[in-house]
Amino acid sequence: MACVDCGKPVEPVAHALALKIVNPCATEFRCLDCLAKTFGSSVERLLDAARNYRFRGCVLFKDIEIPDASRRDQSGRDQGAGPASLS
Ligand SMILES: [Zn+2]
Repeated sequence: MACVDCGKPVEPVAHALALKIVNPCATEFRCLDCLAKTFGSSVERLLDAARNYRFRGCVLFKDIEIPDASRRDQSGRDQGAGPASLS
């Protein structure tokens, strides 16, 4: 299955998120990156949500791999983690 926006393969977790968040009867799917754009969110937050759904026992997320967001290394948003000592 290919992302309707960019044509990349849709990750299993993105597929499950689309069914869970967008539409249980969804017929168009987006990859994680495009899904995040659609929601004005970030991939990290989507993956967090996916883990949360799985934690709560949602069957959509039971048997899929939820990748580690930090491995994707695309946040660039944690500006607060600078050197501890600037004195
Ligand atoms: Zn895409």
